[in-house]
Amino acid sequence: MKALSIKNLGISESMTLAISAKAKQLKAEGANIISFGAGEPDFNTPEYIRTAAIKRIEKGGNGYTDASGLPELKTAICKKLRDDNELEYKNNQIVVSCGAKHSLFNALQALCNPGDEVIIPSPYWVSYYELTKLADAEPILVEASSSQEFKVSIEQLENAISEKTKAILINSPNNPTGAVYTEVELRAIAELAEKHDLYIISDEIYEKLIYGEKHVSIAKFAYDRTIVVNGLSKAYAMTGWRIGYTASSVEIAKVMSNIQSHATSNPNTIAQYASIEALSGDPAPIEEMRLAFDERRKYMVETIESIPQITCVEPKGAFYVMVDVSTFFGKTVEGNKIEGSIDFASVLLEKAMVSVIPGIAFGVDNYIRLSYATSMANIEEGLARLKKFCETY
Ligand code: PMP
Ligand code: GLU
Repeated sequence: MKALSIKNLGISESMTLAISAKAKQLKAEGANIISFGAGEPDFNTPEYIRTAAIKRIEKGGNGYTDASGLPELKTAICKKLRDDNELEYKNNQIVVSCGAKHSLFNALQALCNPGDEVIIPSPYWVSYYELTKLADAEPILVEASSSQEFKVSIEQLENAISEKTKAILINSPNNPTGAVYTEVELRAIAELAEKHDLYIISDEIYEKLIYGEKHVSIAKFAYDRTIVVNGLSKAYAMTGWRIGYTASSVEIAKVMSNIQSHATSNPNTIAQYASIEALSGDPAPIEEMRLAFDERRKYMVETIESIPQITCVEPKGAFYVMVDVSTFFGKTVEGNKIEGSIDFASVLLEKAMVSVIPGIAFGVDNYIRLSYATSMANIEEGLARLKKFCETY
């Protein structure tokens, strides 16, 4: 038989999803696994959103919507962008998609030609790399170390820019580091993009999961050249509902909408109606979840800091902590040589029954990523196991 698509044979499986699925499977089989893998809230979707979905199912009117989303939902998104981000958009600048991942896919497809380069600050969320390759462009990684609080400098970005650079991908608050860029830093990145005529893709999916810092959208400083990516998955505990969206220029929105009209048509109609309610309803349940994440974050950072073999940088947003485990590299644990983050994660799973994501998935092999989107009881037990593992080996 003829070979499959060479481009797509080169795309690897999402490690975050694969490891989360493996932990779920082991648990279903009865293993006493504590999972720090999944980047998804452990809370149920707030009741007022669930009720809106049920009402819509019963009311009918659940056919196709416009391929780029319901006009009423676009209006609610424009209001949200005005109220939260001081950004003015009209409905024809909004494209609602099947999750923020799909929005990122559309954005990269709309911008890139073969050979274009996309600058991605590292550590980066696992899918940016593969989504860029899917758009026939080349990911150019710019690494920010822990001593920079995992934030790239303007000099680093400037050095990475070439004739071929098409866009910079900014993710603040960041997955996996929890880093949050300040207004001053974002303004400088926007100026750089202006100077070199680059687009900005700004992934703001963790906007509302922020602890003390202020979220600012870079679109405030580079409105015409920014594609804002956001969605309902994280802050509203709606990962499985699959609603994300972009806000961009009319021209870019039209290209993304055309792509989507052939690839998926509209995102799930019922979830779109429920999203209108999510965006315009009572924000109290959202704030309650944020406070719970904050409490878990503090506990996690304190506990990790009390374990001498490992270190972390306090995350300022999202629900992840990057833990430096490089002191284990070169050691052998009961016959298993630990040479990188994949080895560490697999030995930890086997010996301590704790599931984590190896840092290599995010471009940095010295780390593992722990998600605190799990109950306090799980966090206490999982960290106790990690501590014991560190002491034993
Ligand atoms: N961006 C980042 C940084 C993420 O962590 C995720 C998590 N899945 C997404 C985008 C995609 O979100 P969604 O589930 O809405 O596709
Ligand atoms: N974004 C989450 C994570 O990083 C969910 C899994 C995924 O979509 O990659 O774990």
